[in-house]
Amino acid sequence: MTDAVPALYDLLLKSGFPPSRLKRNAPMRAYTTFHIGGPADLLCEAASPSQVRLALEAARSLSVPVTLIGNGSNLLVRDGGIRGLVLRLIQPDQPDAPLSEDAGSVLLSCFAGSSLAGLASYACSRGLSGLAELSGIPGTLGGGAVMNAGAYGGELSQLIRTVHALSLSDLSPRTFEGDALGFGYRTSAMAEAGVVVTSVTLSLPRGDADEIRARMRELAAARREKQPLDLPSAGSTFKRPAGGFAAKMIDECGLRGTGIGGAQVSEKHAGFVVNRGDATAADVLRLMALVQERVSARFGVMLEPEIRILGDDA
Ligand SMILES: Cc1cc2nc3c(=O)[nH]c(=O)nc-3n(C[C@H](O)[C@H](O)[C@H](O)COP(=O)(O)OP(=O)(O)OC[C@H]3O[C@@H](n4cnc5c(N)ncnc54)[C@H](O)[C@@H]3O)c2cc1C
Repeated sequence: MTDAVPALYDLLLKSGFPPSRLKRNAPMRAYTTFHIGGPADLLCEAASPSQVRLALEAARSLSVPVTLIGNGSNLLVRDGGIRGLVLRLIQPDQPDAPLSEDAGSVLLSCFAGSSLAGLASYACSRGLSGLAELSGIPGTLGGGAVMNAGAYGGELSQLIRTVHALSLSDLSPRTFEGDALGFGYRTSAMAEAGVVVTSVTLSLPRGDADEIRARMRELAAARREKQPLDLPSAGSTFKRPAGGFAAKMIDECGLRGTGIGGAQVSEKHAGFVVNRGDATAADVLRLMALVQERVSARFGVMLEPEIRILGDDA
């Protein structure tokens, strides 16, 4: 444990974080959809940009390293856990009000901890389209913006106007707009900039609420049919390689269903590694290495992880 962690816990309490939002030795398996990962020295949950700033100021004053997470749906945390502070952005207590509206679209500024699914339902109830395709992605808006999350032809990059962030080095405000957002396939300028995304302004076109609802239901059914949603995972393990599909290549190597320890290439969708119940991060990493080796030997393609790997080995 980082020496200053007990002092940071006290400082965060004094700064107004309730004890329910602070946890020492927080098992990261409880904060990731993979249900894998050793303990974080200290985990703090922030529900507004001002709480994010308070937590970062406190960590900075005691030189405690900070790791950011949203819903942990794209993460593999190693078995030794994470040293220092894990700052987790969570659903805000109050929904955000529209910034401006015109006949064609609505600008909505939302806290980065807002869940994508919750935002999609809210937008649907107001007859705003654009988020239906993303409604089944189990992440936060901030994590989604950093990863440029996308599905079924939709990508957050198509909806994002502005990203507000704080620099992790000096806590100065940063604004990303237009080309500076640097969106690419499952990446963005924010991923490399050493920032925490605090809020995101979305431009949502007006649509028909019944049609949006029907589209959300149709896509949820498609996900249930194709993806192993009954087992913990972090979604697609590898990025789509140029000119191919990771899942198809993995399948053609005969790896569907292959397991190491508690980790398994999903029987239902070979692009997902799933946790059969007692997987360790070491099991997942060994399985990923095996998949990469076999795919490389057969297709000459080195699959690149889509999931982010954090923390220390056991
Ligand atoms: C069943 C399942 C299905 C999925 N389907 C899809 C899909 O269809 N399309 C898709 O794109 N993804 C999919 N994913 C992956 C995942 O949901 C997305 O990548 C999501 O956007 C991650 O958001 P998160 O809040 O969980 O981020 P996390 O996993 O918590 O973090 C992801 C990365 O973003 C960083 N980060 C998080 N929040 C912030 C912030 N506020 N500021 C700066 N950095 C931050 C973290 O440090 C980390 O590097 C799926 C995952 C699962 C489990």
